[in-house]
Amino acid sequence: MPVQCSNCVQRRAVLKRPKTGHSLCKDCFFWAFEEEIHQTIVSAGLFNRGETVAIGASGGKDSTVLAHVMKVLNERYDYGLNLLLLSVDEGITGYRDDSLETVKRNQQQYELPLKIVSYEELYGWTMDAIVKQVGLKNNCTFCGVFRRQALDRGAMMLKVDKICTGHNADDVAETVLMNVLRGDIARLRRCTAISTASEGEGAIPRCKPLKYAYEKEIVLYAYFKKLDYFSTECIYSPNAYRGHARAFLKDLESIRPSSIIDVIHSGETLSVKDGVKMPVQGTCSRCGYISSQALCKSCVLLEGLNRGLPKLGIGKHHRLHGKILAQEPLTEQEEKKLKAVDF
Ligand code: SF4
Ligand code: ZN
Repeated sequence: MPVQCSNCVQRRAVLKRPKTGHSLCKDCFFWAFEEEIHQTIVSAGLFNRGETVAIGASGGKDSTVLAHVMKVLNERYDYGLNLLLLSVDEGITGYRDDSLETVKRNQQQYELPLKIVSYEELYGWTMDAIVKQVGLKNNCTFCGVFRRQALDRGAMMLKVDKICTGHNADDVAETVLMNVLRGDIARLRRCTAISTASEGEGAIPRCKPLKYAYEKEIVLYAYFKKLDYFSTECIYSPNAYRGHARAFLKDLESIRPSSIIDVIHSGETLSVKDGVKMPVQGTCSRCGYISSQALCKSCVLLEGLNRGLPKLGIGKHHRLHGKILAQEPLTEQEEKKLKAVDF
C-alpha cells in the first residue's frame, strides 16, 4: 500500500528523510529542506541585507544545491542579497575542466554572474603540473591551501562581502573527527564554526549555510529537483586517511542517523583547557595573506615548487622562513632533505 506523506497527509510519500526518518512527498521534502537552511541562516545571522555574496561553486552536488537554495531563499524571504558564483580552476584535466562546464550551465540556469580564478594565473602552476613534480601523495595539501587562498583572492577581485561554501553536515563531522585524530586543537576549535568573522586583512568572512544539511538529503534534493551537477571524483584524489574517517562516519550513520549531528555537536561544545598554546594569526610577510607564521602556507608551498623542493611546505620548516624571505640559498643538506625522493 502506498505510504502517505506524514506532513501533508494528502500526497504519496516518495522518500524517507535520512535525517528524521519521516516519510514525505516531494513538495514537503523540498519545503522542509529549504526551511531548515533558512533557519540556519537566520538564527546564525549569516547575511545582512544589501551584501554581495559569492557562492563557491565547483559544479558538484553541494555547491549546486547551495546556489539553487540560496537563490530560492533570497527571493522567497527577500534577503536582499546580491548573489554571484565564484569558481576555482585548479587545472586538472579531465576533471575540473568538465565540472566548470557544469558551473557555466548553472550560471545560465540561475542567471547569476560567474567569476573563475585559476591556479595557473594566481600561482603559475596547474595541479597537473604540481602532481608531475610532487606525485600523488601530498597533492591535496597543495590543492587545499591554494584553493582557500584562491577563493579569497577571487572574492577580493569581485569586492564581495562574504563567501559561502557548500560544506555539509557530513563534511563538518568528518573534519571534527580528522582534527580529533590529528590532535589539531586550533583547527578543531575553528572547524565547527558556521562562519568566520573576518580573520584579519586578506580574508573575507566565510560561512556554511549547509552546515546542518545531511549529504544524503542534498543528493535527494538535487535528484528530485533534477539539478544539473557534476559527480565524478577528482582524478588525483588519494586522501586515504580522510576516506577512513568518512567510511567510519557512514557506518555510524547507518546505525544511528543522528551520529552526524552528534559529532558536530561534540565539536561545537568542546572547550580548550587553559594553558594550551594557540597559534596567533598575523599576516604573511610576502603576500600579506593571513598566517600564523612569517610566511603563509601558500607562499611556502609555492617557494618549494619553484625551487624544485616540494617538501618545503610539507611538515614544519618554520626556521627556514627567514632564509626564504631573504632569498638566501639553502644548504646542501637542507636541499637534500627537501627533495622529493620518497615523496
Ligand atoms: Fe585538489 Fe585533492 Fe580535491 Fe583533487 S582531490 S581537487 S587534488 S584537493
Ligand atoms: Zn603568503
